[in-house]
Amino acid sequence: MPLILVHTERFAEHQTPPGHPERSERAEVMDVVAERWRERGAEIVAPREATHEQLARVHDAAHLRRIAETAGQALALDADTYTSPESYDIARLAAGAVVDAVERVMESRSHTAFALVRPPGHHAERDRAMGFCLYNNVAVAAAHARALGAGRVAVVDYDVHHGNGTQHIFEADPAVLYVSTHQYPYYPGTGAATEIGSGAGAGFTVNLPLEAGAVDEDYRTVFDRVVLPVLRQFKPDLLLVSAGFDAHERDPLGGMRVTTPAFGAMTRELRSVAEECCHGRIVAVTEGGYDLQALGASLDAAVSALAPSPPPLPWPSTTIASTRGRDAADAARRAIAPFWALG
Ligand SMILES: [Zn+2]
Repeated sequence: MPLILVHTERFAEHQTPPGHPERSERAEVMDVVAERWRERGAEIVAPREATHEQLARVHDAAHLRRIAETAGQALALDADTYTSPESYDIARLAAGAVVDAVERVMESRSHTAFALVRPPGHHAERDRAMGFCLYNNVAVAAAHARALGAGRVAVVDYDVHHGNGTQHIFEADPAVLYVSTHQYPYYPGTGAATEIGSGAGAGFTVNLPLEAGAVDEDYRTVFDRVVLPVLRQFKPDLLLVSAGFDAHERDPLGGMRVTTPAFGAMTRELRSVAEECCHGRIVAVTEGGYDLQALGASLDAAVSALAPSPPPLPWPSTTIASTRGRDAADAARRAIAPFWALG
């Protein structure tokens, strides 16, 4: 089965002011990673634009109209979120890329796919752009998978920021499980362990708020004690990954100490769960990552975890003692105890 990298050099045109971390060089890093995997036999697919119907499953009409009106204009939508004249087209391509990746995986043309996209998506709410994000790409993907017949979809988000948009869009929906590891307290302010979903969706939002400074072992602890056992009980028909690399120790925005090999290990663990639960169906989509060297290396490690014959990708071991992972796992387990059997 080919590995599918959905990307386009046009993502470079979603630009923000010089000096801003969300700059076009990030798209060039993605192009270098994609080219390296093309040489190793990966299939590279150029995306088509998401349709209005696909976007409207997770965004309201006023938001879609507002983003469409930015076409051809350079605007500030909030303190962090700018558009260039090209952003509307590029954002529709980014959302379309994850739609395409989901279709290929759900139709078993490939079991794994990685969508390399700009702009990111997980902060975008149903009704507004936020935190560099115009459309919530991973939410569009989850809704599309449901429309294609997936009964249960899991989203795991290891970006250093909490995916407020993804959580809110699905918080009352028991068919979409949202699990996030993130720095807390931190931007965007959401993601406490006690946020567990609402109504019929209670228990289907799982937050692992990690204190700044968390290391690889902390992530391993929360994966072993919460993320992986909850996924195995939920038994998704498709696993989606919000793959942000801003928890990396080199990242200028995030305050975590995660190393490059840990991104390979986390992604490999998620693929293993997908192989147990859903015939290996897993789609990863890029989110943040603001140190270019760390982004390139971590993205490469994550892509390798979804390759046809992945290397072992073990968890790295550091010698730094930290209780951040245990604390986050304990808080999450207390909050979700009524819903999941975690021993
Ligand atoms: Zn982020």
